[in-house]
Amino acid sequence: MLETLRKIIEEVNRAPDLTQALTLIVHRVKETMAVDLCSVYLSDYDKNQHVLMATEGLNPDSVGQVRLGFGEGLVGLVGERNEPLNIDDAPQHLRYRYCPGSGEEQYHAFLGVPIVHHRRLLGVLVVQRRNPIPFGETELSFMITIAAQLAGGIAHAEASGGIRGLRQTLGEPSLPENRPLQGLAGAPGVGIGTAVVVYPQADLDVIPDRLPDDPAQEEAAFYDAVDAVKKDIRKLSARLEKVLPAEDLALFDAYLMLLDSGTLGNKVIEHIRAGNWVQGALRDTINEHVRTFKEMDDPYLSERSDDIRDLGLRILAYLQENPRTQTRYPQRSVLVAEEITATMLADVPAGQLAGIVSTRGSRSSHIAILCRAMGVPAVMGAKNLPVSRVDGREMIVDGYTGRVYISPSDEVRTEFTRLLQEDTELAADLSHLHELPAETTDGVRIPLYINSGLIADITPSRNSGAEGIGLYRTEFPFLVAEHFPGEKQQRQIYRTVLKSFAPLPVTLRTLDVGGDKSLPYFPIEEDNPFLGWRGIRITLDHPEIFLVQLRAMLHANHTLGNLRLLLPMISSVSEIDESLQLIRRAHQELSEELGEHLEKPQIGVMVEIPAAVYQADALAQRVDFLSIGSNDLTQYLLAVDRNNSRVADLFDSLHPAVLRALLQVVEHGHRFGKEVSVCGEMAGDPAAAVLLLGMGMDSLSMTVSGLPRIKWVIRSFSKQEAVALLNEVLAMDDVHLIRQHLTHALEQAGLGGLIRAGK
Ligand code: PEP
Ligand code: MG
Repeated sequence: MLETLRKIIEEVNRAPDLTQALTLIVHRVKETMAVDLCSVYLSDYDKNQHVLMATEGLNPDSVGQVRLGFGEGLVGLVGERNEPLNIDDAPQHLRYRYCPGSGEEQYHAFLGVPIVHHRRLLGVLVVQRRNPIPFGETELSFMITIAAQLAGGIAHAEASGGIRGLRQTLGEPSLPENRPLQGLAGAPGVGIGTAVVVYPQADLDVIPDRLPDDPAQEEAAFYDAVDAVKKDIRKLSARLEKVLPAEDLALFDAYLMLLDSGTLGNKVIEHIRAGNWVQGALRDTINEHVRTFKEMDDPYLSERSDDIRDLGLRILAYLQENPRTQTRYPQRSVLVAEEITATMLADVPAGQLAGIVSTRGSRSSHIAILCRAMGVPAVMGAKNLPVSRVDGREMIVDGYTGRVYISPSDEVRTEFTRLLQEDTELAADLSHLHELPAETTDGVRIPLYINSGLIADITPSRNSGAEGIGLYRTEFPFLVAEHFPGEKQQRQIYRTVLKSFAPLPVTLRTLDVGGDKSLPYFPIEEDNPFLGWRGIRITLDHPEIFLVQLRAMLHANHTLGNLRLLLPMISSVSEIDESLQLIRRAHQELSEELGEHLEKPQIGVMVEIPAAVYQADALAQRVDFLSIGSNDLTQYLLAVDRNNSRVADLFDSLHPAVLRALLQVVEHGHRFGKEVSVCGEMAGDPAAAVLLLGMGMDSLSMTVSGLPRIKWVIRSFSKQEAVALLNEVLAMDDVHLIRQHLTHALEQAGLGGLIRAGK
């Protein structure tokens, strides 16, 4: 059964559109279950009706015609209850509703299961038999499994216009245009531009469709790539001639024959002439061939599909090297990908990035943090975005609400252009704040620092009115390099950062890789990377890497003296003790080498693991300051992967458990006279910032684009009001109520513009 299920799902996922997918579903389910009828209904929320979309068993003319109101008939009952309905004689049921002309009166046994995606009913899958014998346990389980598996595909097709397309073919009016796609708010702001789909190299499945600029050039690029692959194969074959037996060498001949025969080539050219660029044409051709081979019953031939794929990848590699087929970035580019990496961001020429949309990740992913640092609007976790079909289309990114508009209408564009204008005005209005202190209306000052990790954002940071750097994520320069940067190279980077803020404090965090930040030249394969080898665990295991970094930091600090050194991912005191020992060693050795006494930096630890919260007193006694990493702390306290868009709704640092943990850290830190600050994204959230002020945090550190906004918040409240608000919130036990309460308080204080687009 499992094998049959897998095959059906694979076939359905390969179907070119929703109509064909649904037709295939009803055919395969009817055949597999040996029933007399299978139909699928989809829920139309505009009309509150379940619409028959595909059937085998009912009159084919009733497709699109049979419409049952929500709650109407047996299908309506399945939808209403959101559970399967298994009865032996449908026409006898009280809720049975006869649809004339459909031919359903001949069927008796009825089994209907809801198709549900993320708690939302998408439709109902029905099978029927002529005989009045109820369906068995196995049949019920099969239907539930197949409906659950199909839900994702249907949701995806629906979001990419599938249902709309289907309705049009049925002569129905289309759904309203401009329905946005919902993702997660990743970085605030509005971006309007042209979608540029980017993808990891050498992966055929992620190649988007794209219109060719010049089909003749695309064809030439294809033939160049094929020639290069042929040369490689001949070389390889010659090299292995003495090593491999003749039957294995025959594989190379088979490759060459395939490339020469025109079987692949003619198809690729056909796809290019039909309007796709060469990489998209190659993807389609290879997939078609792979499918044909896979479906062959002969195991030998079926396995040849891997060879076809291999050939495809070899050709692709050459195409991607070819300057004629490289990505071009329009003036205002919206970067779109399954997963956006730091290098993809870095590839966009300066000033041309209008926004990003990623189908994976969430607000707390590092790429979203990077976007906030750069002031680039971002939508994360837009799971239903049809990535391969949006390249070159106009796109609006609303980073406040997480919505994406593809090819918006004039009205939508005009509205967002206005909001963008207002955002720019708001930023200009706030710019006067940069000379003013972050001081409450009753005169309490709380220094605002910035989070950084890029040299490029140091100058805007310096001009932002920040009183220092609260978190410099040193891993970013490591992420975009091709190998571990050497001591001198690191020293130059740290020196630039320290110098640009001196004498104001600069907190350099030691390398925090692992989790969702993996270095291309130091790959870590783990089942649960966020619970694995991360941050200080790696650097303590690799003193040769850690010591180089410590020496670079200490040396860069010489004659400046504004370095604060921060240790990430601390979960026990032994990690601090070992780190302190290495810091002392680096300091001593470097002082001896330079023949000078080097300044000793202040040393702090990140409190971002629940264990550190409960041992905050022990940590505070060992170091000079505590810095709360609310991103990881929220992730680990709530057991919500910060990178997983499926559970992103559960990730909120205003959760009462997180708030209590923060209070405990402040209390322990202050008991030992140590400074406590927050450097996680929470510090840049206007709603949270008021609470952190009320808790008595000594400073807050955030992305540069968020700083003026938080300053405005601080300057709009008194400390007393913040404490009162904190106490009100601490009496609440539900995170949604807390967020609502704080949003209301911000609106009341005239700060609504900080949490949505426009003023
Ligand atoms: C945090 O976890 O809150 C933090 C600031 O560190 P990072 O986001 O880099 O993991
Ligand atoms: Mg962290």
